[in-house]
Amino acid sequence: MSTDLSAFWMPFTPNRDFRTAPRMLARARGVHYESDDGRRILDGTAGLWCVNAGHARPEIRDAVARQLETLDFAPTFNMGHPLAFELAERLLKHAPAGLTQVFYANSGSEAVDSALKIVLAYHRLRGEPERKLLIGRQRAYHGVGFGGTSVGGIPKNREAWQGSLLPHVAHLRDTHDPGRNAFARGQPACGVEFADDLERLIREHGAQHIAAVIVEPIAGSTGVLVPPRGYLEKLRAITAKHGILLIFDEVISGFGRLGSPFATELFGVTPDIITLAKGITNATVPMGATVVSPAIYDAFMSGPEGAIELFHGYTYSAHVLACAAALATLDTYAEEGIFQNAAALSPYFEDAAHSLKGLPHVIDVRNLGMVAGVELAPRPGAVGARAYDVFVACYNAGLLTRVTGDILAISPPLIAEKKHIDEMFGIISDVLKATV
Ligand code: PLP
Repeated sequence: MSTDLSAFWMPFTPNRDFRTAPRMLARARGVHYESDDGRRILDGTAGLWCVNAGHARPEIRDAVARQLETLDFAPTFNMGHPLAFELAERLLKHAPAGLTQVFYANSGSEAVDSALKIVLAYHRLRGEPERKLLIGRQRAYHGVGFGGTSVGGIPKNREAWQGSLLPHVAHLRDTHDPGRNAFARGQPACGVEFADDLERLIREHGAQHIAAVIVEPIAGSTGVLVPPRGYLEKLRAITAKHGILLIFDEVISGFGRLGSPFATELFGVTPDIITLAKGITNATVPMGATVVSPAIYDAFMSGPEGAIELFHGYTYSAHVLACAAALATLDTYAEEGIFQNAAALSPYFEDAAHSLKGLPHVIDVRNLGMVAGVELAPRPGAVGARAYDVFVACYNAGLLTRVTGDILAISPPLIAEKKHIDEMFGIISDVLKATV
């Protein structure tokens, strides 16, 4: 093995710091990783919010291996392969009623950029080309394409590209309100009125100029912001009233993370588009998808016969290996009742997360389904340093967590059991007590 470690430019990582004390994962099974020095690491993050059915599922491995032997690649430009169509139908069985077509990508970022391109093209097709404005939200994460970065709202993710991002973009205020909602369990009671910020943007820009609003139903990567009660419903009502499309980025919330197939079911709100990735293949093979309403699809299908309707797609759209993995993953989710397990375990997970209240540095705990965020007071003059130290100490103690700023995010595989939850929060508790 290379001892230098400099050839791989690592994403979202302090590269030089990593090399001084590398954390290398060598194997994984169930809810555990194993490091290259043979230590068992409890996976408190389902990889990166994506290994929902746990690691090393033999049925997914076998499906991919069989596929690799039968048909390793097939283009989907002007060609097809059966699994792409089968998977689209299967996905729609899970997806909210009212969404009827699946466009494939290879990641959440691509699914988001596809969604943004589709909405702009849709309005143009319908004779409203002036609807160009894309509205995201402060603190949002929608991946790293130019579209996703533009509608995203995490300052550090945008800083280096200020002035070069998409021109017609505005942002809603975020829904974080620790003054009223700190330590809320599940959806916070206060904050439905944050949706009125959309009315402000409509007054400022004119509804006739707004193409779409994109939000994560639960903001994950910024450090877990749970939507206040009634907030998403209100966003839906306002967008519908003004002919503005609503996109839910379900890259994290999809496939059982919140104890339901998608957040849309949990909240009873149907957007015009959802974007998916991560849990779609249990993270075994990269895949993303953009699922749209019939109104959107039909607008594209009304042009001249024989013409390409959408000049967009990826070499690996509906890659056969990803399709095989996704079909096997959906079987696993259904056969093992994994979403139901997540729903059943959520109250226990919630209690365990909130048991951290009162421990040193903890200024907020928030949770929904199998996601929790634990916010720590920043060290004076060193934002993020305390949580990063906690992340490293947890790892050294045998637990993988995720850290953003001074917030720890916990989102274990949905096959976790109570004993794993106990172990996770036990380690975090011990580490917090020992952290300065
Ligand atoms: N959208 C959301 C809500 C995400 O959480 C992520 C990744 O965490 C993405 C998009 C980007 O997905 P990917 O990293 O697969 O491009």
